[in-house]
Amino acid sequence: MSTAWAVAFARSLELMNPLRADHISPLDMFKIGVGPSSSHTVGPMVAAIAFREGIIKDLAGQNKSDLRLQVELYGSLSATGQGHATDGAVCAGLCGLSPRTAEVDDIWSAMPNLQESPVLKMDNLLVAFQPSKDIIWHGWFMDGQPLPHPNTIRFRLFEGDKKVAERVILSVGGGFVESVNPATGMRSAPADRDPQIKVAYPYNSAQQFVEQCTKNSLEPWQVVIANEATRGLDEKTLRAKLDEILDAMEACIERGLHTDGILPGGLNVQRRAKKLYEQIKTGVVPGWAGNDLRPSVFAMAVNEENAAGGRVVTAPTNGSSGLIPAVWRTLKETENLARETMQNGLITASVVGALVKVHASISGAEVGCQGEVGTSCAMAAAGATIMLGGNVHQMEMAAEIGIEHHLGMTCDPIKGLVQVPCIERNAMGAVKALNAASLALASDGTHLISLDRSLEVMKQTGLDMNQKYKETATGGLALG
Ligand code: SF4
Repeated sequence: MSTAWAVAFARSLELMNPLRADHISPLDMFKIGVGPSSSHTVGPMVAAIAFREGIIKDLAGQNKSDLRLQVELYGSLSATGQGHATDGAVCAGLCGLSPRTAEVDDIWSAMPNLQESPVLKMDNLLVAFQPSKDIIWHGWFMDGQPLPHPNTIRFRLFEGDKKVAERVILSVGGGFVESVNPATGMRSAPADRDPQIKVAYPYNSAQQFVEQCTKNSLEPWQVVIANEATRGLDEKTLRAKLDEILDAMEACIERGLHTDGILPGGLNVQRRAKKLYEQIKTGVVPGWAGNDLRPSVFAMAVNEENAAGGRVVTAPTNGSSGLIPAVWRTLKETENLARETMQNGLITASVVGALVKVHASISGAEVGCQGEVGTSCAMAAAGATIMLGGNVHQMEMAAEIGIEHHLGMTCDPIKGLVQVPCIERNAMGAVKALNAASLALASDGTHLISLDRSLEVMKQTGLDMNQKYKETATGGLALG
């Protein structure tokens, strides 16, 4: 299996579409969805919606009967998909429920409903589909071949015994999905990510981004706003959407701070954020007097909500969804930040996330937790630096510190649940992000290792990392 996994990951890098960092929007990095996982929950749900919409379009007007569907989950999706609710997410997507807009209760009742009444209604098509029988959990090979990506899904629609449609979709981390072109085997870029579109200030490395800012005397967020405008998203609309994202992050923190009990999944993990927050408010937090536990508690509040399958924002993934809201909320409370500053921080953070996505990975199944909590820490450190008045050199330095001290961090979630070590890991990442920003702000931004170099190391470390530490729940802490 380890050889197959290595081939799958190497292929996933080889077959990557020519996505550039300057083509990834802040709205790609921050997506409102549901827990517990962006790659194993949101991505499969998005993939199922794409399959459903494709079938409705392709078979429109055709008189089809005796249709039945099979969904095959491969690789890491199979290894940890039950703990990550991948099957439930696929069912919700096949029913046309969006992770962004559907009620959370409706999402999680889709699978039991289908189990009881095993027919999907896709426009005027009726498709037999019983989750317990028609969702098939596979290993690391598809038809005897290594997978195109560790998180691969295949949808196959049959009319009687005849296959009428097949689609292979990859959940590549952070809720991003890509299709595999059956003719070329290449991963396809979404239409609005056409690399031929020329943005106002092109960049595809941290160095180029810094140069665009300095050469044109632009703040980091201004570069992105101009590029987004080139692609048809005006600043007013972008800021309105970022506001929605900030609202969703705030609401998630609040729910987490006011909910207690045991998290689902069988590990019997007790929620801690509510009690800790009550302690903070009464000033009885034990420990070092100079410590401020708020970033940790805010992060835990979000990740507890995520673990419970609640509404969260990918930042850049669900597993790492607590860190950025925690840093933004802490700085809002301590620095009285304006809303626009917080939006600028998100835009800046998204640049770092995009660079990681293009040059390494934001998927725990590809590179371990350095790609999730590590990336989020680097994003938060960059955003915090800018929100606190730093310049682009300090921003790049903060991001580098954030990622450098997560290099090699494994993904070994116990029982495949996004609980241990994930919840505390976000707390620790939030603290590190604030510290990285402070260290960068205390300097002139001069430092030895560049962010670009750190991302090269991150990718290579991911390639070298044993597959049992990449979201398969077969090594490390996952062994108990
Ligand atoms: S250990 Fe890290 S990468 Fe793995 S599921 Fe948890 S947060 Fe995600």
